[in-house]
Amino acid sequence: MRTNTVGVIGAGAAGIAAAKALTGADAGIEVELFARTGEEPSNRTLVNKGVAIGLLDPHQAALPSAGVIPTSDTVRGVDPRTREVRLDSGERRAFDALIVATGSRPVLLDEDIVGRDQAVHAGRLTTLHSMADAVRVRARLAEATPARVLMLGGGLVASETASLLTDAGHDVALIARSHVPGVRSIGNPIARKLLELHQPQHAAYLGRQVRAIRTDADRASITLDDDTRIEGDIVVVAHGTVPAAPAPWTGPEGMPVDGRLRSLQAPGQRVYAAGGVAVHQYPGSRSYRIDHWDDSTTQGVHAADALLHDLGLGTDPGIYLPTSTFSVRVHGHTLLGAGHPELGTSTRVVSSDPLVVAHYHGDTPVALTGIDAGALVREQIPHLHDRDPIRI
Ligand SMILES: Cc1cc2nc3c(=O)[nH]c(=O)nc-3n(C[C@H](O)[C@H](O)[C@H](O)COP(=O)(O)OP(=O)(O)OC[C@H]3O[C@@H](n4cnc5c(N)ncnc54)[C@H](O)[C@@H]3O)c2cc1C
Repeated sequence: MRTNTVGVIGAGAAGIAAAKALTGADAGIEVELFARTGEEPSNRTLVNKGVAIGLLDPHQAALPSAGVIPTSDTVRGVDPRTREVRLDSGERRAFDALIVATGSRPVLLDEDIVGRDQAVHAGRLTTLHSMADAVRVRARLAEATPARVLMLGGGLVASETASLLTDAGHDVALIARSHVPGVRSIGNPIARKLLELHQPQHAAYLGRQVRAIRTDADRASITLDDDTRIEGDIVVVAHGTVPAAPAPWTGPEGMPVDGRLRSLQAPGQRVYAAGGVAVHQYPGSRSYRIDHWDDSTTQGVHAADALLHDLGLGTDPGIYLPTSTFSVRVHGHTLLGAGHPELGTSTRVVSSDPLVVAHYHGDTPVALTGIDAGALVREQIPHLHDRDPIRI
């Protein structure tokens, strides 16, 4: 049997899962897994839950081996035509097939916000995405316990981090552009419930944008678009992510893929994308991207299976449809979701106590979300993407 060399770029959730699936397939595949130069592959979900709050050191968040020793050399670019990747070190490596699993990067505040760069340089304004961000936040929190944290953002990472920091004794103010934080990603009923959980715990500035940031020796203060001024020890931005692909796919559109996660920008060239970098097309609908751990892992395995199938070494995994779960713990309550609520065009409350919501695209259930309703949500996952009504 001929040995095929498969390059996997990115040693995170999707990349490690893909590498494991390929090496475990016993199909004569040689996997080369590329990690960023000097970076220890780690579990990003522990950035806020472990390292930022001082529970874990970064090395304790390291990912278990994928059975392949990663090449620690950032991929600078890919040439799908000559089937080579270009590395930071100047080396080139050939591949027969490639899985791009480079994840996403965080969105910072707009560059026209007065004082933004000064606050970043002073370490008073940061994203919370990498282990380096986590260490920066942890150091700042240690200087002033309890610290006053200004949390910008309304998504799941902002929500969960606000809760974690409050439990750790810090004083957190929530500042979100939406009046109902998280409504876009988890839908109205669950976002409202989360807001109810947050409101007794935090000062909340909702429906507001940041206009300026001022950095002083011992604090930062932000001015909102209604002239409100709020002071804190650190400002944490959690405004979501954008895909982060190597050249030639560095644009904001990420890596569009077909149902088997084959790159649409390199058709027929055995290039696949999985995880936060991949942009999917829901059948008969719009494009979407998912940036959750379990879903990225599932996509990594799906891309590996599709690749094996295309090489004539495995069975067709079919069309990828999102059903994986994601969860956050907020002020003593657990939000569990499955599928991708953003695909929904309408929501139906299928249980009010505990609260469970089904998200529909037309007549098709595409996601479930619930608060303290793990068993009910998990029970209904098999109904996602078929047309059976969800009944509880
Ligand atoms: C603070 C925080 C908390 C989170 N908590 C949760 C949670 O509780 N539950 C949940 O489901 N999701 C959570 N997420 C989201 C989850 O971590 C991501 O969705 C998931 O890690 C995405 O997997 P991925 O493989 O696409 O990317 P990643 O896991 O980010 O892996 C991508 C890897 O590729 C590397 N890379 C990038 N470019 C290159 C290159 N050119 N060359 C070589 N390597 C490269 C990166 O350095 C990284 O190691 C959280 C995210 C954050 C930031």
